[in-house]
Amino acid sequence: MVKLSAMSFSFEVIKEIPEELGRAGVISTPHGQIATPAFIPVGTKASVKSLTPESLDDLGAQAVLANAYHLYLQPGSETLDQAGGLGKFMNWDKPSFTDSGGFQVMSLGAGFKKVIDMSLGSLDSDEAMAESKERLAHVDDEGVTFKSHLDGSMHRFTPEISMQVQHQIGADIIFAFDELTTLHNTRKYQEQSLERTRLWAIRCLDEHKRLTDQRSDKPYQALFGVLQGAQYEDLRRKAAKDLSEMKSSGLSFDGFGIGGALDKASLGQIVSWMSSELPRDKPRHLLGIGEPADLFAGVENGADTFDCVAPSREARTSAVYSENGRFNVSSASYKRDFSPIDKDCSCYTCSNFTRAYLNHLFRAKEMLASTLATIHNLAFTVRLVDRMRQAILDGNFREFKTEFLARYQAKALD
Ligand SMILES: [Zn+2]
Repeated sequence: MVKLSAMSFSFEVIKEIPEELGRAGVISTPHGQIATPAFIPVGTKASVKSLTPESLDDLGAQAVLANAYHLYLQPGSETLDQAGGLGKFMNWDKPSFTDSGGFQVMSLGAGFKKVIDMSLGSLDSDEAMAESKERLAHVDDEGVTFKSHLDGSMHRFTPEISMQVQHQIGADIIFAFDELTTLHNTRKYQEQSLERTRLWAIRCLDEHKRLTDQRSDKPYQALFGVLQGAQYEDLRRKAAKDLSEMKSSGLSFDGFGIGGALDKASLGQIVSWMSSELPRDKPRHLLGIGEPADLFAGVENGADTFDCVAPSREARTSAVYSENGRFNVSSASYKRDFSPIDKDCSCYTCSNFTRAYLNHLFRAKEMLASTLATIHNLAFTVRLVDRMRQAILDGNFREFKTEFLARYQAKALD
């Protein structure tokens, strides 16, 4: 008999883009539903920087994604467990995600960029990565040993430890522990790494099963397998096929995360390779993607949810988004501009404040500057993906994409 708690995660496709892999759907979790496609704001350390959970809710966020690595180091995942899980700890009663920590551990100090423009020149070498690994993280077949960025102390993550940490944190959707590679690693290394990630995925399923049974009084946590394979079609397809067929301890993955570095020019194609191998009835999360053109490419090719620190991180540096592109609201030209950041935006910031006021707050280094700019950038990004969903339902996704990107990518305001 299926336990009631095990039934509280599901995904339903409602409508698809004709002749494309993109779709609109609904993910159901123990903490509520997520209408997809959806953009999930990042609250790395159980806080979306400068925002209260109430303002995050007001701006339309359906879920939040926190980071297992950061919460493991500070305050420690046991603390979140004792608090009753991530949602209770941060007073967020909607769905939540945690990523496995693999990306943060392995990109420590590497200056790793998520989306790379390969046209800027390609260097096919494992050395750039190896050097940085020697400094802060070392990967072997069992796991990763790394140095805390906080105090330099040594730690070790294995697939089992990542599962234990993510169960203690208690998010609704958690991710398998995978190895991160860059687009610059050699083909041979990508193959070895993919196999390592496959073996780690089996260990994640086994440990997840053990923990789910052991902690059967807790809300069900859905485990997503993470697909790597860099820019290689055969490796990406293999990863998708391997993980969608994988079964261990009687469990298969509840959904999938599309991970790794992505070449900007072929991001849509990479997502399409994987989506066409993955089961239609399971959700797909595109890790670390948030730029408008990338979001369109992801949605069009079958990704259901997205997370990215860029909208909030850029907001804190005064870079704000508008229908006509991104601009820097602290630049001199906005000193006496009494219009909102975006006249078409209905967020709290645009409803109540002017560019001139934000310009002043940034120049005066007032904390409210970050709060107001973050509310707007997150509202803009969340709403953009919500509009993509509506366009899928209305059957005019392509028209919406063309029209939006033409305006957004036209000359920026400054
Ligand atoms: Zn706004």
